[in-house]
Amino acid sequence: MRDTTLLQQALGLAAPWTVTRSDFDAAAQRLDIEIDFAAGSRFTCPSCGATDCPAYDTERMTWRHLNFFQHQAYLNARVPRVRCDRCGIRKANVPWARPDSGFTLLFEALLMTVVSAMPVKAAARLVGEHDTRLWRVIHHYVAQARARSSAATVTRVAIDETAARRGHDYITLFVDIDRARVLFATEGRDAETIEAFAADLAAHGGDPDAVSEVCIDMSPPFIKGIAENLPNAAVTFDKFHAVKIVNDAVDQVRRGEQKSESLLRGTRYIWLRNPANLSERQRATLDSLPTRYLKTARAYRIRLAFQELYDQPPAAAANYLKRWYFWATHSRLAPMIEAARTVKRHWDGVLRWFDSKIANGLIEGINSLIQAAKAKARGYRSTRNLKAMVYLLAGKLDLGLPA
Ligand SMILES: [Zn+2]
Repeated sequence: MRDTTLLQQALGLAAPWTVTRSDFDAAAQRLDIEIDFAAGSRFTCPSCGATDCPAYDTERMTWRHLNFFQHQAYLNARVPRVRCDRCGIRKANVPWARPDSGFTLLFEALLMTVVSAMPVKAAARLVGEHDTRLWRVIHHYVAQARARSSAATVTRVAIDETAARRGHDYITLFVDIDRARVLFATEGRDAETIEAFAADLAAHGGDPDAVSEVCIDMSPPFIKGIAENLPNAAVTFDKFHAVKIVNDAVDQVRRGEQKSESLLRGTRYIWLRNPANLSERQRATLDSLPTRYLKTARAYRIRLAFQELYDQPPAAAANYLKRWYFWATHSRLAPMIEAARTVKRHWDGVLRWFDSKIANGLIEGINSLIQAAKAKARGYRSTRNLKAMVYLLAGKLDLGLPA
């Protein structure tokens, strides 16, 4: 068996394509495989599918293929432009690569596997290609897979924003709670963001009117966007976000009081934690403070009581929250009164949790995948790259890659 026959079988080539020769350059660590078609071969028109088109002329092309051990391997061929009776002159497709890609399908499959496991820059170094070429491949497969993906069953959505880089740009993520997958990622965090999601949902076979539950933070643009674009959705305000608002009030009280109360210096992180999570040293510090007299300690107890809302039986929740609101608004602690009023303005959505039981932090694994996407897209030049990586890692997409 000649080496060309072996290579032909390894590449899975079928007529009219054959391997005509291979050149192995040990010094350059490079294997070049020449592929050609027999004179008089007929080709399929890429536009209309007519199968009997003759070659009109050819263009020589090269594709990076899977390494041959440590050597880079390339396929080379003259690709015909075919003359179709219906369509005119069209460049034929080859079975081993996508049109206009400089990589074979198998090499692209390898790339997609590698970039799921390491930063794109590192993957680029590993295969010896510039990362912009890898990003082009990533964008292609993610876009194709997204185009095929269905949102037909989506009814419960968690909406959360994440800083894209150093707090500058934001992307908003829409998560299908029931399948724990990112449905949509987009720049911005305003009402139009929700509108864009509703349009994307409809474009993927989903129905904005069928969305019955959403979980968001207390962002006014989100509230407005949901009312306008997801009209049947009941809003649950994310409980971690609600607790954070009350927690921030504790921090403000502490900052104000610390100016005249030196005992509070260095205690900031004690008040931000839950008692069960304090270190031994923090616990000892807390025990040594005259908590009965400190405003900060009073604010802290109000915060702990707010958290305990979520441990109440559903039937008791509304009354519990009323009592808490009374306590907080009579605390004579301005930041806490302000936080309580914020809770009051979002009353139904806070209590909605007792029916929906949905929260953004509960979307198991998604947030860690987003962090991983940021790490893998490190050095990304655009939020477009970050979004593609989010879809790749957290979108549960079927990439349809050759095995
Ligand atoms: Zn045609």
